[in-house]
Amino acid sequence: MVCAPFTYHRPSSLRQAIALLQRLGEEAKVLAGGQSLIPVMKMRLAQPQHLIDLGGIQGLSYIREARGAVRIGALTTHAEVEASDLLKRRLPVLAETASLIGDMQVRNRGTIGGSVAHADPAADYPATLLALDARFKVVGPEGTRTVPASQFFPGPFTAALKPGEVVTEVQVPLPPQGSGASYQKFANKASRFAVVGVCAFISLNARGTIRSARLGVTGAADHPFRATAAEEALQGARPEERVFQRASRLVTQGVECVADVHGSAEYRAWLCQVLARRALETALARARGG
Ligand SMILES: Cc1cc2nc3c(=O)[nH]c(=O)nc-3n(C[C@H](O)[C@H](O)[C@H](O)COP(=O)(O)OP(=O)(O)OC[C@H]3O[C@@H](n4cnc5c(N)ncnc54)[C@H](O)[C@@H]3O)c2cc1C
Repeated sequence: MVCAPFTYHRPSSLRQAIALLQRLGEEAKVLAGGQSLIPVMKMRLAQPQHLIDLGGIQGLSYIREARGAVRIGALTTHAEVEASDLLKRRLPVLAETASLIGDMQVRNRGTIGGSVAHADPAADYPATLLALDARFKVVGPEGTRTVPASQFFPGPFTAALKPGEVVTEVQVPLPPQGSGASYQKFANKASRFAVVGVCAFISLNARGTIRSARLGVTGAADHPFRATAAEEALQGARPEERVFQRASRLVTQGVECVADVHGSAEYRAWLCQVLARRALETALARARGG
């Protein structure tokens, strides 16, 4: 299938890109890796009259550590996240998550900024970025702001971006000593998208009890979410099987699981439980230095 005709723009600065977005309004869309946008344009589910390619803007592709966080430029590809030595050392779960996205072709072109802005309810990064309590730096006509991951995915294919705003950086705080995280995914065999994916983050205090725990879930509902009831059940508890079992049962509390050709709502709720258990156990082993 072929996209409807459009005008291609390749600004060389962020300022130019934002000015174009402002001028062209709803007729324009930003293009990053094209791995989500081009397929929907080919299916004519989107027919933007203008594409504003971010690829000509220098300085939006990097992974670096600064001020207590790892900062990842929006145009950094999934393959770069997967291969990053800094991430493997400091936030290995993020590199692992990237390695599970689609296939090599998708990972070589797709970008972290494009993935979070697209906000696909079955995308992988949102689960892990929710569990890691990431923030997104966005720049628009009114200036720069940062949005916590917990507020960034309000609905299906909807990111908390205002008109004319562009995601420029993903900021992931460095976890304290005694922390571990794991992303567990049950993948659709054809696309590799998550039927359900759960990321667990656990931080232990000196006595070995859970100082804090966060669970990010994708694929289960119409948007990625934090499993707050499960997190509350873990807070301050001893990390043992009975506690993990109870927390896992709470992952979908208050959540309406979705049903489609890949699985019923009940099946997804069950997957949430199973994957949460596995993610918590692996996160705990890592927090203990395993
Ligand atoms: C065959 C296939 C399999 C896939 N499997 C998976 C999978 O297993 N897991 C998974 O998570 N994903 C999967 N994907 C999606 C892939 O990860 C995409 O790379 C990602 O969703 C979008 O990133 P992109 O850079 O390609 O963005 P694009 O396709 O260029 O853009 C996507 C959307 O985001 C907007 N956008 C892009 N960048 C920005 C920005 N910086 N600021 C504001 N808006 C922006 C665009 O306007 C567009 O609306 C798959 C895709 C394909 C084609």
